[in-house]
Amino acid sequence: MKRRFYPNSIPTNPFEPTTDKFQIVGSSEKGEGVISLTDFEIGDIVFVFNGEILSEQTLFTLQIEEGVYIHDPYVMGKVLHSCDPNTSCDIQKRTFTAIKPIKNGDFITMDYETTEDILFRPFTCGCQSPNCRGLISGKKISFAQTIVA
Ligand SMILES: [Zn+2]
Repeated sequence: MKRRFYPNSIPTNPFEPTTDKFQIVGSSEKGEGVISLTDFEIGDIVFVFNGEILSEQTLFTLQIEEGVYIHDPYVMGKVLHSCDPNTSCDIQKRTFTAIKPIKNGDFITMDYETTEDILFRPFTCGCQSPNCRGLISGKKISFAQTIVA
């Protein structure tokens, strides 16, 4: 049966994530993540999220602009990071789009440094992709380090 992840206080949209297509799972090393229960082709809209606009970061926010964040502790906030992700996030349209084929059972992943100036909780990435950047702390910090170097 198809159920919403979002409470009734959040308006519905035709592409919102639902329980027929996604599952939240716990993984021992990475915490919770979002698994796809269906296949997506490159270019498909994976989901359109929604949430509460905040002036502060939480573990479940993405940055819309400096000092403005959107908080979705239900789905978007649980998407794991990869340096070689299978989706890209359009933060203005609140859309996750497949940039690789996604199979039933795959984790949905995004690159946190595409939206976040500074991460709420920096971490050492273990995505094991050849282009893994290691410490993921936010695009402002990575950029600053590039300038210094
Ligand atoms: Zn990585």
